[in-house]
Amino acid sequence: MTARSVGLVVAIMLVATACATTTSQPSPDETSLLGTLAPLVTTTTSPTTTTSSTTTSTTTTTIVPIGVPEPTVLGVPAEPAIDSQFAGVGMATVPAGGAPIFSQGGTEQLVVAREGLVFAVTATLDDGWLELVTMCDTTAWARAGDLVLNGPSQNQAVGKSFNFAKAVVVLDPGHGGPWNIGAVAETGLREKEINVDIARRARDLFLAPHTVDWETGTIYTGDQVPAAQRVIVTRTGADELADYEAGLLFRAELANAMKADAFVAIHNNAGHENKLETPGSDVYYQSQLEDSRRFATIMVEEFNRSFAPFGTDWVGVQDVGAKSRLSTKNPGKQYYGLKRTEMPAVIAEGAFMSNRSEADLLATPEFRQAYAEAVYRAVVRFLTDDAFGDAASFDPKSWGGFAGSGDARPECAIPSQDGE
Ligand SMILES: [Zn+2]
Repeated sequence: MTARSVGLVVAIMLVATACATTTSQPSPDETSLLGTLAPLVTTTTSPTTTTSSTTTSTTTTTIVPIGVPEPTVLGVPAEPAIDSQFAGVGMATVPAGGAPIFSQGGTEQLVVAREGLVFAVTATLDDGWLELVTMCDTTAWARAGDLVLNGPSQNQAVGKSFNFAKAVVVLDPGHGGPWNIGAVAETGLREKEINVDIARRARDLFLAPHTVDWETGTIYTGDQVPAAQRVIVTRTGADELADYEAGLLFRAELANAMKADAFVAIHNNAGHENKLETPGSDVYYQSQLEDSRRFATIMVEEFNRSFAPFGTDWVGVQDVGAKSRLSTKNPGKQYYGLKRTEMPAVIAEGAFMSNRSEADLLATPEFRQAYAEAVYRAVVRFLTDDAFGDAASFDPKSWGGFAGSGDARPECAIPSQDGE
C-alpha cells in the first residue's frame, strides 16, 4: 500500500482492547470449553487374538479435527483473588459485580468498572492500594481486595525445552469503541469486531490441549501441546463485542506487566496495491528484538498455510511478508507503538478488508477460525522451536507516514458496570 493509504488506515485502526484471563483453576467458562472439545476424540476398543492363546485388545483412536467452534465469551471471575505468582505487578481482572476504580491518590472514585475488564498493575502501594494503567492509558488506583490479581510469566528460554503449559500469551484485537473502528469493508463489515472474534477463537485454541499435524497444519484435540498457562485478550469483558476504546500504551503496559512470552496484535488490512496469486498477509515485527522478526516470519508462513486453501483473488503490497517500520517523523517510534512492548511482538495484518473477496471471506466463521489457527500454530512454533519461518522478511524501513501511536483520547472512559 502507499504511505498515504497506510497512514489513513493506521489512523483509523488504532485499537481498543480488553482481556480474557485464565488461571490455574479453570473458570466455569473454560471448563465448559474443555468439555466442548474433549468429546471430539473418540476411542474404540476391539478384541483381537494374538498368536498365543491369550486374548488382548488393540485400541484405535479416531482423531477428529476441531472444526469451527463458536468462540466463547470470556469467563468473569466470581470473586476477588490473588494467584501465587502475583508479587506486586501483573494484571487485575474485575470480578462479577464490578470494581471501584479511583483517581491517583485514591481521593475520588472514578467509576465502578465493568466485570471482566482487565488492567495492568504497575505497582502495589501502601494500605492495600494498587497502581493501574487503564485502557484509557491513564494511571488509576484500586483496592487489591476488589480485584482478581495474576502475576507475570516465568519467562522460560524460547526453544525446544520451552514448557508450553507455562506460556503467557497476549492477544490484542485492534481498534474498538465508537471512534476507532479500523478498516471498513464496502459491505460494512468493521475491523474492530472481526478482530475481537478472531482473538477469542485463538484464545479458545490456547486454552485447551491440542495435537498439531505439522505437515498439514490441522489442529486436533490431543495432548501434544498443553493448554497455555494464561491467555490475555486485551479488549475483553462481559460486553458481547468488547467494543470500547483502549490505547496502545495500555495494551503494551498490560503485556509488559505480565512479562508475556509473546504478543500478537490482531488486525486486518486496507490499502492494497497489487493482485497476488497467494495471500498478501503482512506481519510487522518489533525491531529491537531479533526474535520478533523470527516470530513474524513464522506468522506469515502460517497465514499462507491457513488462507491459501480458500483460493480467492488475493491482494497485497510490494513487500509482502515480515517487516518493520521506523517513524522518521517521530524518531524512536515504531509503527503502532510496537516499540513499547518488551517481549517478542508482532502486528498481524491477516487479510485485506479493502479487497471485496477477502472481506467476504472475513465475514465467515471458517476464515476467522483459519486466521485464529494460524496465530495458534505460529505462537506454538515460535516459543517451542528456534527456527525461522519460511516467508520473506525485510529489514526495518524508515517510514514517513503516520506512526500510529494510538494513545487513547482524553475523552476515553473506563466501561462501567451500569453500562455507561
Ligand atoms: Zn487494524
